[in-house]
Amino acid sequence: MRTRITLSCTECKRRNYDTTKDKKAHPDRMETKKYCRFCKKHTLHKETK
Ligand SMILES: [Zn+2]
Repeated sequence: MRTRITLSCTECKRRNYDTTKDKKAHPDRMETKKYCRFCKKHTLHKETK
């Protein structure tokens, strides 16, 4: 079962990505490095509701 989540940039706080995750593999908030087109660089993105 996969759950829909939103990833937001920790620097500009914008929500950049909609994705899904496996809740069993990631029971806590996911953090991942992704490209932010607003910061124009790779930043840490965190799962948000
Ligand atoms: Zn950003």
